[in-house]
Amino acid sequence: MSNDKFIALSLPNMAGNEWKYVKDCLDTGWISSVGSYVTKFEQMVADFAGAKYGIAAVNGTAALHISLLLSGVKQHDYVILPNLTFVASANSIKYLGAEPLLIDADPLLWQMDLDLLEDFLSTQTETKGKELFYKKDGRRIGAIMPVHILGNMCDMDRFSQIVSQYPLPVVEDATEALGTTYKGKSAGTFSPLAAFSFNGNKIISTGGGGVIVTDDEALAKHAKHLTTTAKASADEYYHDEVGYNYRLVNVLAAIGVAQMELLPSFIERKKQVVAFYKQELSGVADIRFQQELADVNTNGWLFTIQTEKQQALLDHLNANKILSRRFWMPMNKLPMYKDCVYIQHQDQSDYIYNTCLSIPSSTNITDEELAIVTREIKAAIG
Ligand SMILES: *Cc1c(COP(=O)(O)O)cnc(C)c1O
Repeated sequence: MSNDKFIALSLPNMAGNEWKYVKDCLDTGWISSVGSYVTKFEQMVADFAGAKYGIAAVNGTAALHISLLLSGVKQHDYVILPNLTFVASANSIKYLGAEPLLIDADPLLWQMDLDLLEDFLSTQTETKGKELFYKKDGRRIGAIMPVHILGNMCDMDRFSQIVSQYPLPVVEDATEALGTTYKGKSAGTFSPLAAFSFNGNKIISTGGGGVIVTDDEALAKHAKHLTTTAKASADEYYHDEVGYNYRLVNVLAAIGVAQMELLPSFIERKKQVVAFYKQELSGVADIRFQQELADVNTNGWLFTIQTEKQQALLDHLNANKILSRRFWMPMNKLPMYKDCVYIQHQDQSDYIYNTCLSIPSSTNITDEELAIVTREIKAAIG
């Protein structure tokens, strides 16, 4: 087995009707922000997640921004989120003039640590009327954003039980978790509004894209209104609030429709990839895996291993044309978020950042490539 071609981390897989549907858009001229594929894609994502409504957006970040806005987050509020996440989660908070309030990661699940969250809410916040405040500076806490890191989930029953004791709207960052369930209930349906992403490396891709899901008709209408410049008249340029040009175009939604048709097969392939890696890498050196709760069925989005020999493994894999990546740098290490309130227990986020590596998990990875990846991991640290 020689390896002359680069093995990527998570590539888009355009194996279905993408070309046909895009051609249809081009042939009919329906390429822009109106067209049947947008509506169809929105409904397919909502149906798949078990939500009533889907609202397409240009990307997952925009979907999060609008979800937070509609949840009532205001300037100078705090929004609670995990310290270990992709920067877009925190950025979407900042776009509203609000401030991220960071919670450390659970050492086993790598999601927001619920012990820390529970302790923080009970000792450092106070409820006045229907609002929650951070005791230390009296600022309001406008929302909490759990992020389903790597398509995994925390104990959502416990999360909901903790949060339900406070006036604290939830907005799920479900961008990585399309297809993941907790007790059979889909990621994205544990909050009134949630965001999915269809960026190039997500489980399905439209190149760039996102969808907001909700069961609430009024919120769905308002989300659509805000993502389409808040135009309030069909025949005049009358806009009744500050809207956003966040609408996904029909050409990309056409790709999305084709990708949604493939999603069940993608999830199946991801599960095979996860099973292969777990079998081949169990007991190799000090390698550990992200733990999953029995109630969670993950979409297996991006397989990630943990080892003290992170740097040696990273160097070896990249030298052998196998793309491997560290986690995102934790938010408290980024210049714009370094002064944020950070509730931590021995900075697990930092430990995870320094020990974890994501390894190739594309749905179109071949069995031969999988064997090359595990062979080289064993060669490097086994
Ligand atoms: C991908 C991602 C986003 C943002 O999605 P885009 O479509 O790239 O804007 C937000 N949060 C997390 C955790 C993500 O992985």
